[in-house]
Amino acid sequence: MKLTLIIPCYNEEDTISDLYREVLDVLGERYDFEMLFVDDGSRDGTLSKIVKLSESDDRVKYLSFSRNFGKEAAMLAGMKFSTGDYVCIIDSDLQHPPSMIPEMVAALDEGYDVAASRRTNRKGEAMFVSFFSRCFYGIINKMADINIKEGAQDFRVMKRKVVEGIINMPEYYRFSKGIFSWVGFRTKWFEHENTSRVKGKSKWSPFKLFKYAIDGIVSFSVVPLRIALVIGVIVSLAGFVYFITVVYDAIKYGADSSGFTTIISLLMLIGGTILLCLGILGEYIARMYIEVKRRPAFLISETNITNNIK
Ligand code: UDP
Ligand code: MG
Repeated sequence: MKLTLIIPCYNEEDTISDLYREVLDVLGERYDFEMLFVDDGSRDGTLSKIVKLSESDDRVKYLSFSRNFGKEAAMLAGMKFSTGDYVCIIDSDLQHPPSMIPEMVAALDEGYDVAASRRTNRKGEAMFVSFFSRCFYGIINKMADINIKEGAQDFRVMKRKVVEGIINMPEYYRFSKGIFSWVGFRTKWFEHENTSRVKGKSKWSPFKLFKYAIDGIVSFSVVPLRIALVIGVIVSLAGFVYFITVVYDAIKYGADSSGFTTIISLLMLIGGTILLCLGILGEYIARMYIEVKRRPAFLISETNITNNIK
């Protein structure tokens, strides 16, 4: 059994050597493994650190992107180029403890297809981030056909067949949490406490998180489109009822009906609703536009992998 560790790195020069050492400590000679670093267009010394490791250890493989394509693209590239029977995705910042890998691998040996991790607390995270991510998981689990466990992370070990399933999903907008849940398979969950990042910086900003949330919902649910339809129906019905009452009043009491204010407020209400619905439609159309272009999810500028190029 061979294990591939996929390690997405973006500006992680401070953390790579620590991770490498810890992985060696844990996996050492006990496992046949390769470490596949995916440098996601880092602007610091990340790539040269990785190249140096690869010179002294031929289990170290790397792919380097032509620019920053995002962690989702890095994970996809890693999976496409992985050769292991088991594939593990792990962050380079040591927030995902390598010490959990042996028990996760053991779960696959026992017959599970996926060993996934969940964090049990949100230590080291801003309050409003925790709040919004809770809301987000509540919303997406209600709206979409997938079920994402609270605190689920990308840290996981998967069998080859699961990886092939994921690679075969050709979408450009890759919302991995959704994809992992969508493919199914027998999954065993492992819990661990969240630890704050020791070195380097988190790559998330509130704006990026918001975009990620919208991506997730639009990628896995068409319910917002239906909500737009329902809002449209409600507003039109209300408009119709109002129209009838105005006509009725005019017939019964003469033409001197409602005033300027009513008209303006109704105009604003209806205008706003139309824009809202158009905006929701726009989100889906924009995604279709990007998807039909069929652009590659990443471009590789450097690698030490010579065979197995897909
Ligand atoms: N990462 C990446 N590309 C990006 C952003 C992040 O490959 O555009 C990597 C990063 O190097 C790290 C992992 O994804 O190994 C998780 O990133 P981060 O620690 O910033 O996220 P958090 O742990 O805060 O969710
Ligand atoms: Mg992190």
